[in-house]
Amino acid sequence: MTNTTFPHVIAIDGPSASGKGSVAERVAKYFGFHYLDSGAIYRLLAYAAYQQNVAWSDARTLAEIAAKLDIKFENGEAYLNGEQVSTHIRTEQMGKGASEVAVHPEVRTALLQTQRNFRQTPGLVGDGRDIGSVIFPDAGLKVFLTAAVETRAKRRYDQLINRGETADYDLILADLQQRDLRDSQRAAAPLKQLPDAILLDTTDKNIEQAVNIIIEAFKKASQTA
Ligand code: C5P
Repeated sequence: MTNTTFPHVIAIDGPSASGKGSVAERVAKYFGFHYLDSGAIYRLLAYAAYQQNVAWSDARTLAEIAAKLDIKFENGEAYLNGEQVSTHIRTEQMGKGASEVAVHPEVRTALLQTQRNFRQTPGLVGDGRDIGSVIFPDAGLKVFLTAAVETRAKRRYDQLINRGETADYDLILADLQQRDLRDSQRAAAPLKQLPDAILLDTTDKNIEQAVNIIIEAFKKASQTA
């Protein structure tokens, strides 16, 4: 018997560009768990609204769209209404849109069950801002994954350059600072480190090291009681 609830959940929350996605995916692969990129759901909603000319400030209409959102994740790709839209939702514009639609409590409520449905046997690794606080408060392990904002800006910059896109470090840094503020100061499910979460600062760590720390922490948390 383990002392974590089944199906297991590992919640990885933290600010933008902290490496949550890469770390969470690898941890999920290691344990053979499912993976939920909750940020992608907010991005899909921002994109759906954009397609329908609905403002990211229109909470009521956004909540209606959110309740009927037809999404799917398969082989690392995101689908909206059956159409593969991964590159469309990964833009800086949709990142900004996601953080704007995410401030509305009605929207967050409408997306609650959508996210909980990802919890399937044998377990789930979820990353976002409120996975451990709101979506799965009974998660067997909660991690607050972060890094200095300058480090995160540099990583995002390198990522864009490697993809052959243009990038401006100062703009990226300013955008991250603004998004950190919006995510942590909003009234609904603000980003914050929970008292029962382990702090993992990756400023001086690579992905592999972060992944190993989480794997060991979860093994310890789920040891025979
Ligand atoms: O993680 P990612 O950068 O893709 O998330 C985009 C935005 O979606 C975040 O800046 C945040 O405002 C919002 N978000 C959220 N709650 C989550 C995941 C993402 O509010 N669980």
